[in-house]
Amino acid sequence: MFDVADFEDIKKGKVTDVYFVKTLDILKKKGIDKWVRAEFIVKRLPENIPWAVFAGLEDVASIVEGLNIKLRAMREGTIIKTYQPVLEIEGMYSEFGILETAILGLLCQSSGVATKAARCKKAAGNKPVMSFGARRVHPVIAPMVERNAFIGGCDGVSVVYDAEIIHEEPTGTMPHALILLIGDTVEATLAFDEVIDKKYKRVALIDTFNDEKVEAIRVADALKERLWAVRLDTPSSRRGDFLRILEEVRWELNIRGYGYVKIFVSGGVDEGKIMQFNPYVDAYGVGTTISNARVIDFAMDIVEIEGKPIAKRGKMSGAKRVIRCGDCYKDKVVPLSQDIDSRCECGGLFVDLLNPWYEKSAFLFDGRSPQEIRQYVLDQLKSFEL
Ligand SMILES: [Zn+2]
Repeated sequence: MFDVADFEDIKKGKVTDVYFVKTLDILKKKGIDKWVRAEFIVKRLPENIPWAVFAGLEDVASIVEGLNIKLRAMREGTIIKTYQPVLEIEGMYSEFGILETAILGLLCQSSGVATKAARCKKAAGNKPVMSFGARRVHPVIAPMVERNAFIGGCDGVSVVYDAEIIHEEPTGTMPHALILLIGDTVEATLAFDEVIDKKYKRVALIDTFNDEKVEAIRVADALKERLWAVRLDTPSSRRGDFLRILEEVRWELNIRGYGYVKIFVSGGVDEGKIMQFNPYVDAYGVGTTISNARVIDFAMDIVEIEGKPIAKRGKMSGAKRVIRCGDCYKDKVVPLSQDIDSRCECGGLFVDLLNPWYEKSAFLFDGRSPQEIRQYVLDQLKSFEL
């Protein structure tokens, strides 16, 4: 069996740091249990990026369902900045304290993956970005990873099972293995064209045996207008100037009338490389950088006990509102009790990002479909820079 925790054990609080067990033990023996308000925020983002995509809330929903607590939350897919509470819990500490480790784990990793996907998509502009990184993570979490890659902005995911979960068609064409087994790039591409349903785009992988330029011309000559794209893999492992190779391939295809053949690049691609390659490349397959993205370091901080503001050093106490101008996307964090001017200086209307989510054992808003969350991310991305 795999070394993975099952859902019931996580829900019961077994996947917890032991100091919470000890804390609850002490509090119980001492007869102390208090009503607590705690918030989840991030103080610093990885690599000093200016924003992150909040994700993982749907998983948190299954963990907290049935508990006697109240929650406020941001919508999954909200683009957030540091020091903005994304989730807030109110209730007796004994009811939820043990779940801190698990809730953080769900939010931190999901948000990390969704954030990196959003950054790659932002860099690519209107060019497709496919999630190819499932092979870099434990297969048990591959569906979680690809779901968050998709909601972050990826246009497709490569793993069959993961695509099923989000009701999308998996994407991908041919591996080097096919070309090696058949023995020639053109023959392999022709075999693909002969066998595989016409609804799938014909993308020839052109870096197996020969120079990319030579192979690109050979497959274009063989498939003509049936060829949708040529794919160049593992640019990071090549010597020489990959940009120059791309430029050459584009040039040689264009000069022979194959201007319609797109260039697809995969392997070792991240948002920086995407920006570099964009003048020549039409689509990307992004792996490790998304699937193994740095996590977003959310922390859970107590901000109120028995109705009184209290917080550790360096933390602002009390319940908060996070508001965002719908026009200029300026954010403010203000005390929950404070009335605010509903209009921003720019004239736009402020909306609350952190809203009641769970009360009296019922969810007040439900998770949206992955497609809707993704669209929400893409809409916001227009107003955010890398
Ligand atoms: Zn404004």
